[in-house]
Amino acid sequence: MTTETEPTAGAAENQPAGADGPEPGAVARTAGHAPNSWGLGDGQAIPWEYAPAPESRDIVRIRPRYGLFIGGREVMPTGGGVFTTVNPATEETLAEVALATEPDVDKAIRAARRAAGKSWGGLPGRERAKYLFRIARILQERSREFAVLESMDSGKPIKESRDVDVPLAAAHFWYYAGWADKLDYAFPGRVARPLGVAAQIIPWNFPLLMLSWKIAPALAAGNTVVLKPASTTPLSAMLFADVCRQADLPAGVVNIVTGPGEIGMKLVTHPGVDKVAFTGSTEVGKLIAKGIAGQGKALTLELGGKAANIVFEDAPLDQAIEGIVNGIYFNQGEVCCAGSRLLVQESIAEPLITKLKDRLATLRVGDPLDKNTDVGAINSKAQLEKITELVAAGVAEGADLYQPACELPERGFFFRPTLFTNVAQSHRIAREEIFGPVLSTLTFRTPEEAVEKANNTPYGLSAGIWTDKGSRILMMAQRMRAGVVWANTFNRFDPASPFGGYKESGYGREGGLHGLLAYVRLEDR
Ligand code: NDP
Repeated sequence: MTTETEPTAGAAENQPAGADGPEPGAVARTAGHAPNSWGLGDGQAIPWEYAPAPESRDIVRIRPRYGLFIGGREVMPTGGGVFTTVNPATEETLAEVALATEPDVDKAIRAARRAAGKSWGGLPGRERAKYLFRIARILQERSREFAVLESMDSGKPIKESRDVDVPLAAAHFWYYAGWADKLDYAFPGRVARPLGVAAQIIPWNFPLLMLSWKIAPALAAGNTVVLKPASTTPLSAMLFADVCRQADLPAGVVNIVTGPGEIGMKLVTHPGVDKVAFTGSTEVGKLIAKGIAGQGKALTLELGGKAANIVFEDAPLDQAIEGIVNGIYFNQGEVCCAGSRLLVQESIAEPLITKLKDRLATLRVGDPLDKNTDVGAINSKAQLEKITELVAAGVAEGADLYQPACELPERGFFFRPTLFTNVAQSHRIAREEIFGPVLSTLTFRTPEEAVEKANNTPYGLSAGIWTDKGSRILMMAQRMRAGVVWANTFNRFDPASPFGGYKESGYGREGGLHGLLAYVRLEDR
């Protein structure tokens, strides 16, 4: 085991248990700059200074307190309770948010039921489409506001919320608006009927995007929804409530309740719910599946992952490096389909790892609102602790750790981009979902060995293949037990393309026609 952390001028904090040597937990607070001696070829890059380019916060007006969005109005929770949401990059409190209780959940479901029966369920598809188009347009018009708010509440870099999350969220509404008046053609020979009321629970890694994945197809198919955002990232959902009002969406079509996991469980098990859609951890996904067993509700689960990103010796290396970096350091690695296991053919392992270290040294970690930032803040203290603990386990189990020298802000939840080599299949860092900027590297000699190792996981959400040969791509893709396989790219999303998992990564698909199917009951004509 070795720990290779580039020298920095400051002291380390949070050294993980079991690790001696330089600061593998990487919750370092450093004062100095990268060493002047950095150069290509030695695992480091030439330092490249950027002037700060902070996005203005002025476009967002965060209110001190938010209520629940039920029946088209903002209402205070029955118990009067609140919880706070913080900016993970600064640890400042952003707002108080309503703590929903069981009677609030009941109220939201009754509002959704009323709308499903009348104002929404009775509308022709072409009329529903108009509302969805309107929401898409408003999301685009208010995109900067959403991007800044999302980055402040979640910690993700502004360039990602601005260029990925918000445009893709709007694209989902555009796409499903297009289906709303074409349901008669979507499933040939069958009549598609809405299921009724959908209970939807979303996670904190892509708050607005997951909201759109859930709400857009549900509404297009004529359902109404009650959505619960994650407790650490409720603000973009509350801003979306404002969009619903601005779009004149009939009351009760979209309802949003905020509160802890227990409220999520009350929501999905409520007898007034017809369909449950969940994105989050495998652990909670299993609890939900058990909780609603026997209730006859439709269920889709999008859960965790431990994707293999497989690089063959004939792959274009520089392109692969960008794909690897995008695969695991995008959104701080807090991505269910992150390429968190790098499988590299043994013959190119050395040059690839050298290039990768060079590239990691150029990643800019810090203020999510700075337009130059590549890696922002970890979403919560709890998540930072989980990452720190798993990285310490990797070191203790004998893997070699590399972290580039980079300054981390004094406050906030930050973690350095981390690369493990010399990883064994049995290590926790090769088996468990870390949900952080941590890449575990394994090697293989033959395609068969790559297939064997890639599929040796309880998960099956995504995989990546890097090779020059089309035939090899097809051969590998066929053998991957993963819902999505990217070839010579990674983390590509399109609303028309279905997304979902195998095994413990869940079941059901979101996106495309498959995503619509999850919200309809098909009857014979
Ligand atoms: P959770 O699965 O706990 O949270 C996801 C959503 O489910 C949140 O809205 C959460 O609410 C809600 N929830 C929590 N407990 C319950 C419950 N018993 N019944 C119904 N809903 C519930 O993920 P965490 O935020 O705790 O993250 C833990 C780990 O899960 C991460 O480290 C990561 O590995 C994985 N994860 C995977 C995601 C994915 O996209 N596949 C997304 C997020 C996490 P609340 O926020 O109020 O707790």
